[in-house]
Amino acid sequence: MGPSTDLKVFITTRESCCDECGEDLGRSAWITLAEEKGALCLSCADLDHLIFLPAGDAALTRRARKHSTLVAVVLRWSRARKRYERQGLLVEETALDQAEQECLADADARARRRERESARRAELDHQYVEDFAARVRELYPGCPPGRDVDIAQHACLKYSGRVGRSAAAKSLDEGAIRLAVTAHVRHAETNYDALLAQGYDRWDARAQVEGDVARVLSQWETQE
Ligand SMILES: [Zn+2]
Repeated sequence: MGPSTDLKVFITTRESCCDECGEDLGRSAWITLAEEKGALCLSCADLDHLIFLPAGDAALTRRARKHSTLVAVVLRWSRARKRYERQGLLVEETALDQAEQECLADADARARRRERESARRAELDHQYVEDFAARVRELYPGCPPGRDVDIAQHACLKYSGRVGRSAAAKSLDEGAIRLAVTAHVRHAETNYDALLAQGYDRWDARAQVEGDVARVLSQWETQE
């Protein structure tokens, strides 16, 4: 996959707002620019499951890119140089894990991995994750073990930092749980990410995987 097909994520330098969900993203938000829709937050763009890998380690970057189905280049406008500068990549966590393992000869990789894991854990609100996972199991008793927690952790990271308690509570609504599970199934159980990586429009890609998503969801809704 050449650089020309990479998705681009921009770190904005002014107040912005997502044109799809309407959320106020504040300053220096991470957004994508869609032709008709304007600015989209990473949740709406379906990129919020990706992990940021800062530029600087060429070997790690090359390997992570190789293993990740979906890659986005993160760019920030430099006022001084009057051009966009590359900050790093967004890649799948499993791809980054694999790349780090391949780089393990290098002791720094271990340290970086520990740092990344502890930064992530610090962001998680454990009560929220437990409650969310319990709701997922309630609605999807046939969900494979562990997925309820993966989905809950992702939801927690998404809601932490930018919204308060009321929004977190709202995200435990049945509708919100179903949306979170559907998004997870799309990424984890279908070739949706591969379609996005090929440059498919999100809505066309969703239409293509709709049947697969529905099939998995109905399996998960049924107790094994
Ligand atoms: Zn949005």
